[in-house]
Amino acid sequence: MQFIDLAAQQKRIRSEIETRLKAVLDHGQYVMGPEVGELETRLAAGAGVRRAVACSSGTDALLMALMAFDVGPGDAVFTTPFTFIATAEVVSLLGAAPVFVDIDPRTFNMDPEKLDQAVRMVIRKGGLAPRGIIGVDLFGLPAQWDEINAIARANGLFAVEDAAQSFGATYKGRKAGSLADVAGASFFPAKPLGCYGDGGAVFTDDDVLAEKLVSIRQHGQGADKYENIRIGLNGRLDTFQAAVLLAKLGIFPDEVDMRQAAARRYTDLIQAGTQLVPPTVPPDMKSVWAQYSVLAADAAHRNRCMAALKAAGLPCAVYYPAPLHLQKAYAHLGGNIGDFPVSEAVAGRIFSLPMHPYLEQEDQVRIIDVLSKVRMTDP
Ligand SMILES: *Cc1c(COP(=O)(O)O)cnc(C)c1O
Repeated sequence: MQFIDLAAQQKRIRSEIETRLKAVLDHGQYVMGPEVGELETRLAAGAGVRRAVACSSGTDALLMALMAFDVGPGDAVFTTPFTFIATAEVVSLLGAAPVFVDIDPRTFNMDPEKLDQAVRMVIRKGGLAPRGIIGVDLFGLPAQWDEINAIARANGLFAVEDAAQSFGATYKGRKAGSLADVAGASFFPAKPLGCYGDGGAVFTDDDVLAEKLVSIRQHGQGADKYENIRIGLNGRLDTFQAAVLLAKLGIFPDEVDMRQAAARRYTDLIQAGTQLVPPTVPPDMKSVWAQYSVLAADAAHRNRCMAALKAAGLPCAVYYPAPLHLQKAYAHLGGNIGDFPVSEAVAGRIFSLPMHPYLEQEDQVRIIDVLSKVRMTDP
């Protein structure tokens, strides 16, 4: 059994992928070929926004978004410590300071009340200029965007959606990628929509911002490549990767439905047979299930669950074992144990089960069978 079964997906669309790749080999426009523009149109429609700018990775998508807002030294950008390092890393790369905000214990996403407190605290302390918020749609579940956007508006901050894991999810009938001023998606192979290498996209409804993002993607170009009007990046998406994504987009809505079905089966089985806490999805949201993550009673229970799965030859993983304020890379911020108690507690109890559209019910039954035999109070 695979944690994420990309081979099953490839088997289904192998000939579409080959046709798309062959077309690129035939026209030879390996950089910014016609597939990139075609993909951008389809992605923008998929997220329900005016513009999508394809780029080299999810990390670069977030970096480009912050560059479009001219983030720099002295700026504070609020985000959660319970995420992949890239979310905060892009803030640091621009010389700005990430300010961490603890999460909601049920959704694992940023707690809007704590965001409000953190913004007030930075204003009161002085020294840093509050500039923006990066909310993360963790594990494919949208954050509480109405509340986050309201806090952004009230304080003159921009809001960026880290949609690296959530392309395909919905929030109150709106699509992930459209839930903040700008969003960044990742097409890393293991994400719900993945290419065969690195890739990403930036989404926005703002045409002026979109043009700035296009310029940033290609060395801050002006009217052409050799007129440079700002500092930018080489942040382009390879044509081959756009071709792979175009082949995959055809089956993506079906795959999102298959993920929903697999998640429902897990939740039913977990509730009926284990002492684990299944993930919470608020009634007005639809997760795209980048990960299916459960909570054990405590670290010892989690470790026994994972050991039992391993012994049975079943894969599992921990996302994320340590919150960012306790990572060595952020030691300079002076974070301590106890600063973000919910993130710390969740990091100690959480683990993720295999999740992909082609997960079979019988495999899920095998996994839950193993987990049902691990009790909280075992020695
Ligand atoms: C994967 C991921 C990123 C970075 O995406 P890459 O394409 O790997 O650069 C950023 N944020 C989150 C939450 C992610 O899961």
